[in-house]
Amino acid sequence: MSGATPITFDDVVAWITTFAATVRDQKEYLTELDSAIGDADHGINMDRGFQAVLVKLPGLPGRDVGAAFKSVGMTLVSTVGGASGPLYGTFFLQFGTATAGREAIGLDDLVTALDAAVAGIQRLGKAVPGDKTMLDTLMPARDALREAAASGASLQDALARTVVVAEQGMLATIPLVARRGRASYLGERSAGHQDPGATSSYFLLKAAADAWSGAAAGNSAT
Ligand code: ADP
Ligand code: MG
Repeated sequence: MSGATPITFDDVVAWITTFAATVRDQKEYLTELDSAIGDADHGINMDRGFQAVLVKLPGLPGRDVGAAFKSVGMTLVSTVGGASGPLYGTFFLQFGTATAGREAIGLDDLVTALDAAVAGIQRLGKAVPGDKTMLDTLMPARDALREAAASGASLQDALARTVVVAEQGMLATIPLVARRGRASYLGERSAGHQDPGATSSYFLLKAAADAWSGAAAGNSAT
């Protein structure tokens, strides 16, 4: 892994733990966003899922990065009702498949995994950019991560750029009219509100950037 910053099992746990804490902190906010254009449960759904994930993490055998992601995905699918459970579940299951059997992954692997994860959400939910969903955060973020990696950025720099783009994607959902999910039932009235799933997806990427800001420090050797 030339110039790589290896992300290990412990780093994956740090990401998930950081995100679970964010979801807990932002539970009311996410639910409030969902109350404007949905059924006021997004924060509750995400918190239920990630609290269940936290219970499972210590019981994992460790080392295998892919197995950690798969466990997260399976737990989300089995504990979160609503659209976001299967969608985030698929995200992490695809992440797990892309990193199966690996004890450390680098930025290039992260690009491949995020690509597979976003493709999984697209296949399952059939949303396209501009439909006012989590994909409006995740798709531009995936492109930003890929471009940053191609330009030779470090993991930390690549994630920092990704988070900036993810936030723009999240904010860009505000004027959109929803075409997928529960918010689409509102038609034009969904415009003017930030999408809850696009918001939790921003927090997810931000959690990776925060958790890994010092990951495998000393990585800059090249
Ligand atoms: P539910 O809509 O079933 O109550 P949540 O409130 O937990 O589930 O999640 C709502 C979020 O799910 C939306 O804000 C949106 O980002 C996302 N979402 C809904 N449908 C889709 C879809 N088909 N593709 C991608 N994301 C979707
Ligand atoms: Mg909802």
